[in-house]
Amino acid sequence: MAGDRLNDVRDYYDVVVVGSGLAGLTAANVLARRGHAVLLLEQHYNFGGLATWFRRKGGHIFDVSLHGFPVGMVKSCRKYWTQEIADSIVQLKGIRFDNPQFQFETSFDRDDFTRLLVERFGVEVDTVARFFDTARAMDFYDDQTQTTAELFEEFFPGRNDVVRLLMEPITYANGSTLADPAITYGIVFSNFMSKGVYIFQGGTDKLIGLMKAELKRNRVELRRQVQVERVVVEGGAVRGVIANGRRIGCGAVVSNANLQSTLAKLVGYEHLDKDYVEAARAVRLSNSSCQVYMGVRRGEGIDYIGDLLFTSTRPEFDSPSLCEANTQSRTFSMYYPDIRPGSDRYAIVSSTNANYEDWAELSEEDYRTAKAQLIETSLNHLETYLPNIREKLDHVEASTPRTFAHYTQHAVGATFGTKFEGLAASMDLPKQVAGMFHSGSVGIIMSGWLGAINYGVIVANDVDAFVSSESVKSRAGGFEVGEGAA
Ligand SMILES: Cc1cc2nc3c(=O)[nH]c(=O)nc-3n(C[C@H](O)[C@H](O)[C@H](O)COP(=O)(O)OP(=O)(O)OC[C@H]3O[C@@H](n4cnc5c(N)ncnc54)[C@H](O)[C@@H]3O)c2cc1C
Repeated sequence: MAGDRLNDVRDYYDVVVVGSGLAGLTAANVLARRGHAVLLLEQHYNFGGLATWFRRKGGHIFDVSLHGFPVGMVKSCRKYWTQEIADSIVQLKGIRFDNPQFQFETSFDRDDFTRLLVERFGVEVDTVARFFDTARAMDFYDDQTQTTAELFEEFFPGRNDVVRLLMEPITYANGSTLADPAITYGIVFSNFMSKGVYIFQGGTDKLIGLMKAELKRNRVELRRQVQVERVVVEGGAVRGVIANGRRIGCGAVVSNANLQSTLAKLVGYEHLDKDYVEAARAVRLSNSSCQVYMGVRRGEGIDYIGDLLFTSTRPEFDSPSLCEANTQSRTFSMYYPDIRPGSDRYAIVSSTNANYEDWAELSEEDYRTAKAQLIETSLNHLETYLPNIREKLDHVEASTPRTFAHYTQHAVGATFGTKFEGLAASMDLPKQVAGMFHSGSVGIIMSGWLGAINYGVIVANDVDAFVSSESVKSRAGGFEVGEGAA
């Protein structure tokens, strides 16, 4: 079976991409367009990584991470994917907040947030403008010592309600907290504020289907259910990978796997400098997630209550409480039939941030009980908006940090990659091992659908330069078929 998955795979590629998350897929596509021979290996049976979906009996289909991304996705998808993909991106109009501090619906852009901050929160219009301009001007090379909490305190001292409005959605979007560097907040927040929140019409299944078709057009070899076990490093440079027990030669590897497992398992610390290993081991991973998937029975409908609901019964905002196992805060993503034009089905996904350690050690029985409780509290919360929802559902199930760790092999089920310091470790990897690259959610700013795609492009540019160099090209030319087979 293992051998079958690598049927017809050649013995040498310019680049092997390990993992088919949005960063891996995009890096593969960009490199293939530049004329390189690319092999993409994914351990799961589906491509897409966390950009995924699943089907259940009764005609249900659930999207896992399709809740919203910034408008920048349109440009990135048009440039690095296809016009058809870009054309399917549509704005989510109804973003709703409901918590003890405020309740309203917003288009989630600078104009509407300015209006809300001035009219509902009583903040001076100049202060709001200065805050937006400061956030907009932030970039990666700025001061990294100021925290997001300090940024808010500078502009809105003592205003927990304002902080909740500005921070809570970003915490859901990338797991960042008030303790993270302000630049990570400023960059991500400004991306959203430029034109609001967008979604892919047609669902994740359609997106990944279109991406696969484009990859095939560009002659990327796609293989699923192939576990990459090791990167072969010899003389300080990448020579190939061991996948499903077979050695495949290559000039460069792009690992889309979790940063920590890339270094510890795929490359091996023995090939890396001591100082680099020390810094990389100290990289903190982001939190994980829980979700409850609710499928509405065929023939039933639900009223429109907004597209994305940020809800909480907690009196005040604080970042850590969003991850608690019995959190009072969650987002509801409402999937009305227009998400998949032609369909007449409704689905609802409740998402909460979560800590892996709260779930990892539970016995099977306690785990089942905790999942049942998660479902129950989510349904209770949803009944506030849709009182008779229980009667309309014929499928409900939950996922936890254990689920995410299982399907993606991300250490601690990390949903959004690493904290800020992970970006340097990821970017510096090629300096450690020639031809070894990492691309995937890292550093908060390179996380989420847009961040992952854009980081895939950035890394592909570096890989392109590397594999186009004479020394690597001559290695490819001198490679004899059969040499790489284990
Ligand atoms: C519940 C949830 C909600 C989210 N909501 C949003 C949202 O609304 N908007 C947004 O923009 N982002 C959202 N995200 C985040 C977003 O989905 C991710 O940041 C992004 O999809 C990650 O892409 P990636 O390229 O880093 O790789 P990943 O998606 O993490 O994929 C890595 C891939 O590598 C594969 N792999 C790992 N090791 C190996 C190996 N050794 N051999 C072969 N294959 C391997 C894995 O199986 C996986 O397919 C959400 C995430 C979750 C979990």
